[in-house]
Amino acid sequence: MKRICLLGASGSIGTQALDVMKKHPVDFSLVGFSVGNRVEKVSEIINEFSPKFVCVKKENKELVKQYPNVTFYFGDEGLNELIKACDCDMVVNALVGFVGLKPSIVALENNKVLALANKETLVTGGELINKLLKDGHGKLVPIDSEHAALSKCLLIQSDNVDKLVITASGGAFRKLSREQLESVTPEDALKHPTWSMGNKITIDSASMVNKTFEIIEAYYLFGYKYEQIELMFNYESFVHSLVKYNDGSYRLDEGKPDMRVPIKYAMFEGACEYDIVYIQHIEDYKKSSLYDFDYERFPIVNLAKRVIDEKGLLGAAFNAANEEAVYAFLDKKIKFTDIEKIIYFCVDNVSNIQNPSYEEIKKCDVSIRETVHKIVKGEVNL
Ligand code: NAD
Ligand code: MG
Repeated sequence: MKRICLLGASGSIGTQALDVMKKHPVDFSLVGFSVGNRVEKVSEIINEFSPKFVCVKKENKELVKQYPNVTFYFGDEGLNELIKACDCDMVVNALVGFVGLKPSIVALENNKVLALANKETLVTGGELINKLLKDGHGKLVPIDSEHAALSKCLLIQSDNVDKLVITASGGAFRKLSREQLESVTPEDALKHPTWSMGNKITIDSASMVNKTFEIIEAYYLFGYKYEQIELMFNYESFVHSLVKYNDGSYRLDEGKPDMRVPIKYAMFEGACEYDIVYIQHIEDYKKSSLYDFDYERFPIVNLAKRVIDEKGLLGAAFNAANEEAVYAFLDKKIKFTDIEKIIYFCVDNVSNIQNPSYEEIKKCDVSIRETVHKIVKGEVNL
């Protein structure tokens, strides 16, 4: 029985991770979990899974009174205390945003298996995470569907790899021109064609920041060069990603878009059943379903190269600018097209340093957020 600490249990990934646990009660037990603002979820999860350690974003005296046998932690630091206290084997990190980085670090420092949905961890702290892994701390398994797919293919064959091909649905605005993007609303952007996900990642999918993150994520997870990581459209999100080998053959993972599949794969650390398709000639594979990616229509994905080449604080600047811009867009304070402009401004103006510590990354995160607030208020011009 694997003891699980689930961070972000009330979210889209968190809820589906709980579904996986319900289906496999012999394999997993929930020893700790966290929620952000959705405090009403706490009782529901305690009553069903009986964990003894819980973290909530804001201090809550009523919960402490209601559950005298449960130890409660609060705030960002509470997440780290929860990981250390709950005696888990695996931390499932389903937090959204930069707040996920420190708990990922703490999980590895404490030699836990880290099942990672929080891609912002690798975008902002990929170097730190890989250093911990290289030094023998813990283990990392991806939850993101494309990376779980790549991981499955690479588990079968990891020699003679030519390229990793990450598939993209194109998001809510694939059919719109860049000019038409000027007038889209948050409601439009939240209508993802194939996946049902949390609000932030749905906007990231529409802006293609999500695919930019996923290139960076693949780079840190699998250790291939940037030039070996490609994007391809698969509008139906039926193909989750492909590995191309030197002889021109491919392996790929296909199936209906359901995050419980990669979550289960990650939680079982690959020790569960899955099918991988082997293709000798890609032209023969359902010719209509895979298309070349349009790098001109979605130029933001090229930022992945800069983040990978320049390293240091670039990923943190990119992520913080994006997070704040996305929330300002959802609050209808800026236009959709401003998200990209804010990102470029922040990445261009960050004074980069190499091998930053967590504290230096955090400082950059805070300062970029302040800059974005000023941009949104009109105090700084782009
Ligand atoms: P979500 O918004 O649905 O859930 C986020 C969770 O984090 C919630 O439980 C929320 O309460 C918690 N949280 C947010 N801010 C917090 C804070 N400051 N302190 C403590 N808790 C906080 O998000 P999601 O869609 O489940 O995505 C989670 C992560 O997984 C993201 O990094 C996302 O990019 C990634 N991901 C999601 C999907 C998907 O299908 N939803 C797919 C692939 C990757
Ligand atoms: Mg993905």
